[in-house]
Amino acid sequence: MKPVAVGLWFAFALPAMSAWQAGAARADITPTESVPLAGYGGKTRMSERVEHPIWLKALALKDDSGAISVLVTADLVGLSDKMVSVITTSAREKHGLPRERLILNTSHNHSCPVTEDVLWLYYEFTPEEAAARDRYTQRVYEKYDEVIAAAVANLAPAELAFEQGLAGVAVNRRRSRGPESRAFGGQVDQDVPVITVKAGDDLKAVVFGYSCHTTALGGLSINGDYAGFAQIELEKSFPSCVAMFVQNCGGDANPLPRIRGKDLEATELASMYGKVLAEAVRQVIAARMKPLSSPIRAAMGETKLQLQPGIPLDELKQRVPNLSGMPKREFEHFIRQYETLGSPPDHVNYPVQVWQSGSDLTFIALTGETVVDYSLKFKAAYGWNNTWVCGYNNDLTSYVPSLRVLKEGGYEGVTGMFEYGHRAPYTEAVEKLITTKVEDLVKSTK
Ligand SMILES: [Zn+2]
Repeated sequence: MKPVAVGLWFAFALPAMSAWQAGAARADITPTESVPLAGYGGKTRMSERVEHPIWLKALALKDDSGAISVLVTADLVGLSDKMVSVITTSAREKHGLPRERLILNTSHNHSCPVTEDVLWLYYEFTPEEAAARDRYTQRVYEKYDEVIAAAVANLAPAELAFEQGLAGVAVNRRRSRGPESRAFGGQVDQDVPVITVKAGDDLKAVVFGYSCHTTALGGLSINGDYAGFAQIELEKSFPSCVAMFVQNCGGDANPLPRIRGKDLEATELASMYGKVLAEAVRQVIAARMKPLSSPIRAAMGETKLQLQPGIPLDELKQRVPNLSGMPKREFEHFIRQYETLGSPPDHVNYPVQVWQSGSDLTFIALTGETVVDYSLKFKAAYGWNNTWVCGYNNDLTSYVPSLRVLKEGGYEGVTGMFEYGHRAPYTEAVEKLITTKVEDLVKSTK
């Protein structure tokens, strides 16, 4: 597919009483040189080819209160605190966008370039590889600016609607790790929430979500994984449309089965998963959808997720000479924290955002690699048919286990914590703290 320049815009006439104005845009972030690939630890993977372009996409919504809210989706593995700060500061300065009205979601794509300090403990780069990362990061910052500006500039009367479909691609991946993992539950959320933005009969943008890691592929090509293929499918079906993928609570789900070591077959499978998801979205669009009422009430807050005690300094120093690769980098990082901060931090700041569109839709945006229990829990609490829960907003932070997942142990929430630079797993208060913050914000936006 040929890259399309930023500023895919639409202008169209609707009666003046339309409650919404909407603008969509996309910006091509396909690297123009070989870059280190993100998402998997181990040996550095340098990209060798482009399977299809990758994108930033933005939807700006101006409601009848005059407030503008912007959702940006990205075929990236995640953002870091530093990246979120650069992007949101720029959006505030240039467009007056308050923080609570800018949601930054990433698809958690594992076939994209490394940016800035995202998952920095995973990688050990040569100076040339680090320079390629830095050049790419700079470009991504510029593209975030451009895509937000283009979406806001494109605001024009529109109608919004919401409904959900289903797609059977996600499998709870904790069950796929050998016989001992079979004791884990197989919870998944296969809902496909969809928001359409229309001008008359013309579909101008579609935002769709799914709870599943974008890890069908792990080769050396740049692509958007199954989510990229799904977006391409939808933009083929609806040529004037910007199709935006939101990663929901896919922390413990993979697209399965997967093929490793045979790139052609793996790509065909990823493309098929994308087609399945796109078909689910097409079916939602073809059926009756519920109009979304204006305005969006938006709120943002932060909770502190406490961490269990870390490894004592003596022990770190004793063990580090026997380590190599990522475990060595992790231990050295904790030793540095003891030396510079007194000790590794005892908590992680955890932002939560809520957008509420009357009683039609409660959009809950969580931070980091949230497991499926959060999606199921908040939909049970606020309505299965009018609640959209997504993780993978803001800083990639860490896996965010529910109490169940934390108690079960395993990678998501226990053994995976060091990789994110955190001294230990969260305490058992993790789910309660997030739930209380979501409850406060949902209440404040009613
Ligand atoms: Zn992940």
